[in-house]
Amino acid sequence: MKDYQEIINRIFEEIQPLLGKGNVADYIPALAKKDSSKFAMVVKLLDGKTFGIGDVDEYFSIQSISKVLSLTTVIRDTDDFLKTRCGKEPSGTPFNSLIQLEYENGIPRNPFINSGALVTTDQMYSNFDNPKRDFLKFVRTISNNNEIDYNHKISSSEASVGFRNASLVNLMKDYNNIDNPVDEVLKTYYNQCSIEMNCELICDTFEFLTNHGKNPKTGKRIISIGRAKRINALMLTCGTYDAVGDVAYRVGLPAKSGVGGGIVAIVPGVLTVAVWSPGLDKKGNSLAGVKALELFTSYAENSIF
Ligand code: GLN
Repeated sequence: MKDYQEIINRIFEEIQPLLGKGNVADYIPALAKKDSSKFAMVVKLLDGKTFGIGDVDEYFSIQSISKVLSLTTVIRDTDDFLKTRCGKEPSGTPFNSLIQLEYENGIPRNPFINSGALVTTDQMYSNFDNPKRDFLKFVRTISNNNEIDYNHKISSSEASVGFRNASLVNLMKDYNNIDNPVDEVLKTYYNQCSIEMNCELICDTFEFLTNHGKNPKTGKRIISIGRAKRINALMLTCGTYDAVGDVAYRVGLPAKSGVGGGIVAIVPGVLTVAVWSPGLDKKGNSLAGVKALELFTSYAENSIF
């Protein structure tokens, strides 16, 4: 077996010059005080072996990483959502951009930019009896962890400045692509973004995608093999905003980032890797996190290409 601990120790040394660089997501007041010199990385193999380095015990808000989870709930039993309400192409525009949405009649480019995630949340809101409770229950079930929770301080902090997300939902409502009340969709979206995890929990939560749709711990199927493939494909092509080409080029794995500084990446059939460092690059991806993943696939020789 590869010496993953040795590999991530080496990566930790090499990314040191990047720590403290980049900008934290200060457009959300509750995230503005995060320490950009923090860094954690966890690698989890499908047999449960886990390797970690850095601030592995720290919890952070998963933000856009949650978009993969809401999409999973929505396409679990049907592909219709991605045929009618949301596209599957990279956007080439910032994650919170409004421009493309009007040109394209209120149909978001993909489910991993804000507009797409907001339509996904709207669909989830329609599907669940109690969206707030049922989404959290879903996340707790797939991760086998009942402690996972929303951080209401972060969600209300984001809501207090969420004018751009409100614009996106209102624009889509005008195009008849939002079924539920705008305020309810926004509230549900801010809640899902505010969920907190550490890197190991992120691996636990996402390893069903590494394991072709099945939870490796319980053996329970979360989603079909075909849909797990499609979610991974969307992560590869749309998971890191308008830097997705650069990330695919450098890292070569399906990955999803969030402005909390976390990134999850999948080596299908082998391992799940999560990194966290709150200093973001200009596109909103963790600066040290992307570099760490790039070094990881180079040293472990396990990109999908
Ligand atoms: N909650 C954040 C927002 O809507 C999520 C963005 C992100 O992580 N890219 O702006």
